[in-house]
Amino acid sequence: MNFCPECGTKIVASWNVCSNCGHNLKSEIVNQQPTKAQIPQKIYPQQKPQYDPSQYQPYGYRPRSNNTNGTVALIFGLLGLFGVIPVVGSIIGIALGAIGKNKDDDPKMAKAGLIIGIIGIVVWIAFYLWLFSWIFMMFSYMPID
Ligand SMILES: [Zn+2]
Repeated sequence: MNFCPECGTKIVASWNVCSNCGHNLKSEIVNQQPTKAQIPQKIYPQQKPQYDPSQYQPYGYRPRSNNTNGTVALIFGLLGLFGVIPVVGSIIGIALGAIGKNKDDDPKMAKAGLIIGIIGIVVWIAFYLWLFSWIFMMFSYMPID
C-alpha cells in the first residue's frame, strides 16, 4: 500500500498520477528513495507503513528527564565565573537558570547555574570596578607636564 506524497490519498500501484490531486507518482517514486527530506509532512505516521520509523520520533518523543536549561546554565555560569566568558556567560547562566528552575525536571542544576551566575557577575563587576578605579587613580596621580 502506498500513499500520494502530495495529498496522502491511497494509491493503486498501477496509477501514474494521483486521482485526487494529479500529482505525478512515477517521478516521485524515483526521487523519494535517496532523499528523506522530500517526504511530505502532510501524511501522518500511522498512514505510512513503509517509512523509517526513526523519523517520527520527534513527534511523540519526550526525554525521560529534561534538564537542558539547567545544564547549559551551569556551564555558562562556570564559564562566566572563571572568566572564560565574563559577565555575558554569567548573564546567560542566570537567565537559563531562571528558566530551568521552572521548566527542568530536576531544578538542582538550574539553581546551581543561577547561583554561580550571580556569584560570577558579582565577582566580575567587582573586578572591573577595582580595575577601573585603579586606572582612574593611575591617571589622576599621573604628573601633568
Ligand atoms: Zn494526491
